[in-house]
Amino acid sequence: MGSNYDFDDDDKDAGGGPRAFKEFDCPDCNANNPVDDTFTDGDEVRCNYCGSEYKALVNSEGRVRFKEV
Ligand SMILES: [Zn+2]
Repeated sequence: MGSNYDFDDDDKDAGGGPRAFKEFDCPDCNANNPVDDTFTDGDEVRCNYCGSEYKALVNSEGRVRFKEV
């Protein structure tokens, strides 16, 4: 059985593959924000309460940090 699906699995070494998150706590106003879709490393999110935008940075432990954009 040949597989036609060749996913790019470069991230697998990081331990479990890319992580997706469904919510985040705003670093500015501390509000908990559910997101419509999911976000993962490098995605930008916006706080529904204060309107601040952040870039999500996921470290190797699967923790998210937010950098203001
Ligand atoms: Zn906020």
